[in-house]
Amino acid sequence: MHHLFGAFFLIIDNLIILKDYNFMHKKIILITLLLSCSLISCNINKEITYKDNVQIALGTVCSIKVDENVDEDIINNCFNVLSEVENELSRTNEFSLISILNREKKVKVNQEVFDLFKYSIDLAKNSDGKFNIAMGSVVSLWDIGGDNPRIPSDDELALVNINYEEIILNEDALTIEIPNDMEVDLGAIGKGYAADKLVSYLKSEGVYSAIINLGGNIVVIGEKNNESNWGIGIQHPDISNELFALFNVKDISIVTSGTYERYFEKDGIRYHHILDPTTLYPSISDIKSSTIIGPSSLICDSLSTTCFLLGYEKSLNLINNMEDYQAMFMLENNDIIFSDNFDIEYEILID
Ligand code: ADP
Ligand code: MG
Repeated sequence: MHHLFGAFFLIIDNLIILKDYNFMHKKIILITLLLSCSLISCNINKEITYKDNVQIALGTVCSIKVDENVDEDIINNCFNVLSEVENELSRTNEFSLISILNREKKVKVNQEVFDLFKYSIDLAKNSDGKFNIAMGSVVSLWDIGGDNPRIPSDDELALVNINYEEIILNEDALTIEIPNDMEVDLGAIGKGYAADKLVSYLKSEGVYSAIINLGGNIVVIGEKNNESNWGIGIQHPDISNELFALFNVKDISIVTSGTYERYFEKDGIRYHHILDPTTLYPSISDIKSSTIIGPSSLICDSLSTTCFLLGYEKSLNLINNMEDYQAMFMLENNDIIFSDNFDIEYEILID
């Protein structure tokens, strides 16, 4: 594993990893560019030397880039937060809260996890059921990004229950209950949830300039060197290690979903990891790359997956009606579309 990281940093120097290093297949799937601050600084005292702290967590490469003087304990606590989230939300960790729910069909949770379920079910309702955390059994049958990805049989798919309306949330008891033939999966929202937790924690420790990158789920805290925007590049969905857009941002989250992240190929067909609840097959979308930008990483994460599933017309409608969230989509025909409220400084890097 180390040689991969080594090679990575050798090649990219001022670039940092953005999206999804696929654990199982040892594949790096999306990249972020952090523009280097000007090489010649007028005021050397202002310059922060950032240190990238990288670990595998939540099934992906997680990096926390902060001032090198930030206490080691704070960094360790950040990775502890990620482990805690994994112990809550991972479907593949058999000891996680979600695994217990999937086995025992009822579990008691804390308020935060309860709210996450509530939000997820609201989003299912607001997306014609396209965003659906009740797809756990389907995700598990396909096992895309796992050890044994395969095309499930029609018989297997016929047995699953994905009706999210049957999830019972009891706010007083803080319990979640699912039917016997249902499993849940929070893969489309977990990294955003974790990123928001890290932001709160780092700010509570007085860290006001940082970049969190959880497998491409990005949050920038404050400004670079407390004086300039951060440059965040978006991976081209068709060309590995190439960026197609660059954003200049501060204090914001950016999340991209696409089919190039996790997939397997059989007989020349690509089967990717965003599954359409209507067909129980990988979603056929007119969007190739779906980027959402806004204050909450949880919301960006869930919306980027949702927009991919909805296709661009419905997605534009959804995002145009949201105040704080903006979208950029690359369509199948390579057009790049922005939501009406898009006001981020950006550059398109392709013709
Ligand atoms: P990534 O986690 O690779 O960044 P996404 O955020 O787009 O990608 O989420 C994809 C993951 O969400 C899948 O791997 C699966 O766990 C889960 N998922 C798949 N289909 C759906 C769906 N229709 N609704 C909600 N979650 C889904
Ligand atoms: Mg997502």
